[in-house]
Amino acid sequence: MKYRLGPDGIHVFDRATGWNVLLDEIVVPEHQWSPGPRQVSIAVTNTCDLSCSYCYAPKHRAAAPAEQLCRWMAELDAAGTLGVGFGGGEPTHFRALPEVCAYAAEHTGLAVTLTTHGHRWDNQLVASLRGAVQFVRVSVDGVSDTYERLRGRTFPALLDKLGLISENFRMGLNCVVNSDTVTDLTAVAALAEQQRASELLLLPEQPTAARPGATSAVIELMDEWVRSYDGPVPLSISAHIGTSLPIAEPLPLESGLRSYAHIDASGYLRATSYSSVGVAVGEAGVLSALRELEEAEAA
Ligand code: SF4
Repeated sequence: MKYRLGPDGIHVFDRATGWNVLLDEIVVPEHQWSPGPRQVSIAVTNTCDLSCSYCYAPKHRAAAPAEQLCRWMAELDAAGTLGVGFGGGEPTHFRALPEVCAYAAEHTGLAVTLTTHGHRWDNQLVASLRGAVQFVRVSVDGVSDTYERLRGRTFPALLDKLGLISENFRMGLNCVVNSDTVTDLTAVAALAEQQRASELLLLPEQPTAARPGATSAVIELMDEWVRSYDGPVPLSISAHIGTSLPIAEPLPLESGLRSYAHIDASGYLRATSYSSVGVAVGEAGVLSALRELEEAEAA
């Protein structure tokens, strides 16, 4: 069980169950607030064997040294961060992934989440991560032909991997929402239900230099679909888009860099994975870079 102090009260978190309780009747003085972001995502490598056209991960070779990752996790754990999410690129290309996740499990109270395309998972990888990873998010952008066209892998191969992952980990599905996938949302939600996924995370496509991102028409269709969805899978959405949906904010006062930060595979701390402003995490550590980034954002 981990306790985090902040402007909304005392946040109690159990990584084994994903259980969260907010004691919001307790007012915590500002000088006692936990200094680390609530959640930090870390791109452990830029390498990926797929080439999705809407990918915004940097394409130069970079990977975080394992010792550095462990040092950052120890610092974030002590600073009240509740969880780290490893992604990339594709995190299963990062050789030290099992050792880094084991470090988090044995030496910190951090929950570890992985975001993966799923195709490199096998029994050996499962065994090396079991007990050290609390949640696996699998990217499923559409189903059948849509999935195969966008991801360049067969849909039956994905189904095999989803079965393997969901048998061994709590699992969620991530779906990039764009003009190709928005009409597949009902089928993706049905797949999530069938695979016993704990969540379906909707990620409206972000603009890149090559693509405009999800249009307002796509967002409207997505909003309509969400309003009409009455299935059992909890839905969540990336918070940074112009949706008209009412979104629950369980910790409304803990926003911006207090709630979330991203470290890319070259070791730059950013407000989000696609933010152009980054501060190198140097010898002084993540919190020092966080203060520098806060100052840069305020300037
Ligand atoms: S699987 Fe993810 S990291 Fe790899 S190319 Fe596709 S979007 Fe990018």
